[in-house]
Amino acid sequence: MTVRTRFAPSPTGYLHIGGVRTALFNWLFARRHGGQFVLRIDDTDEVRNIDAALNPILEGLAWLGIDWDEGPGKGGDFGPYFQSERFALYREAADQLLASGHAYRDFATPEELDAERKEAQAAGRPFLYSRRFAAFDEATADRFRAEGRKGVVRLKMPREGSLVLEDAVRGRVEFAWEREQDHVIQRADGSCLYHLATVVDDHAMQISHVIRAEEHLSNTPRQAFIAQSLGYPLPSYAHLPLVAEPGSRTKLSKRKLAKYLKNKDFALVNEHGQKIASRIGLTPEADTFNPVIVDFYRDVGYLPWAIDNYLTLLGWSLDDHTEFFSREQLIEHFTLDRVNSSPASFDPKKLWAVQDHYMQQLSTAQKLELMLPYLVKAGLLADPVPEEARQTVAQVIDVSGDRLKVAGDILTYADFFLIEQPPLDPEAVAKRLAKAGTGLLLAAFTERVATLEPYTTEQLEAALKEVVAAAGKKVGDLIHAVRVAVTGTTVGPGLYDCLVILGRDRSLARLHHAQPHCG
Ligand code: GLU
Repeated sequence: MTVRTRFAPSPTGYLHIGGVRTALFNWLFARRHGGQFVLRIDDTDEVRNIDAALNPILEGLAWLGIDWDEGPGKGGDFGPYFQSERFALYREAADQLLASGHAYRDFATPEELDAERKEAQAAGRPFLYSRRFAAFDEATADRFRAEGRKGVVRLKMPREGSLVLEDAVRGRVEFAWEREQDHVIQRADGSCLYHLATVVDDHAMQISHVIRAEEHLSNTPRQAFIAQSLGYPLPSYAHLPLVAEPGSRTKLSKRKLAKYLKNKDFALVNEHGQKIASRIGLTPEADTFNPVIVDFYRDVGYLPWAIDNYLTLLGWSLDDHTEFFSREQLIEHFTLDRVNSSPASFDPKKLWAVQDHYMQQLSTAQKLELMLPYLVKAGLLADPVPEEARQTVAQVIDVSGDRLKVAGDILTYADFFLIEQPPLDPEAVAKRLAKAGTGLLLAAFTERVATLEPYTTEQLEAALKEVVAAAGKKVGDLIHAVRVAVTGTTVGPGLYDCLVILGRDRSLARLHHAQPHCG
């Protein structure tokens, strides 16, 4: 059998990381079995601006390397891949279900249904529609129409027995039919609902495995009923564990940002990203730019494979210790029977660690290509970047080593090399320069810098130590002051590296400039 999987997002305007995890598992499974991965757009509900709603999803998937074989921009033999272009098929299926008696037209008003629901509630029994306004033939339907009623199409669900399925993740699952409502599949205006559309499309597109989030498990009985009633074979189902909130079992949601910010790790990752975003001129809104959404990571400069690798571990594992996988290794090892069924809690700290791991594997040249655009966007470098500046940034990357965790971090580590005189951060000045006696120490060091030969990190370090020893002070009394003087701040690469990259003249100019701020 050819394996065909699909990811079927609705055009919501953003790519949720829980959605990415679902897409990844479908993609990996298809790749593992040499099958096809289909991207289908579930846009049955009216979407005003489809491009704006869809592009972040398409771009996000492309950036992550989750390439689809059929779908938007690709075409394929089973198109169109937009549900909004497939309404005729759904109507045909609804008609077929009506004709075979697996569905009926229902003319109950919302008030009448509500009254039944309340009655059941009062009697303490589960609600099941009485089918009082059901029309199983045209004559009855016409009678209701004559009363001015509008008809929807409902499934005539079984009310006895159960459906038993083998879920690739959950094993045997059983659903009692009596708990199922007669779900609406077609509205009074003729438009069809998701459950019908998805079953019709999965069949028409020859989807062999429906791999999707756990929240769809409860939709499965009605979808299986539709499929069986239409004479379709059932696909294999795999319901993936929820991608849950940090430290909890509740589904991760982009609407609960305020709550997540109480989590220390989440807040740190968010703050770090927001800072980078604001420096490159993004003034994002929290609902489209936060660590629940893929754009956040792309804009801040995470590596796509770090995201893929981390998200794959949300619910899947090879064994109890392997954490890092190449794309090829994941494709080779991915199986559904190693997918866990309990909710997988999103851990921003773990993602950070995976990102760090992959970042540190990159060469300086690779990091340079990723990082230069940030400096250009922040207005620190011209476009195209002059050769000399490229070399300076490459040096900064070299000496910053593993302090650079995401591409956007270059803004913190390189900016003071690229501007003539960086502003002195008042807090840093108060902490490191204002102390009495700092001016004298700094002046003595400045004097040594002026004549030091050769001008190297080793010589600079020796000179600084001599200056503090001669004054009877500690290294800490001077080293932090020099850093603030030459960088304006307290964070950066190693101090002696900074002085060498800046060169003697620029270092001296900054040391002189800092003098009046010293105590
Ligand atoms: N459009 C649905 C969603 O975004 C797809 C559900 C399914 O995979 O069947 O959740």
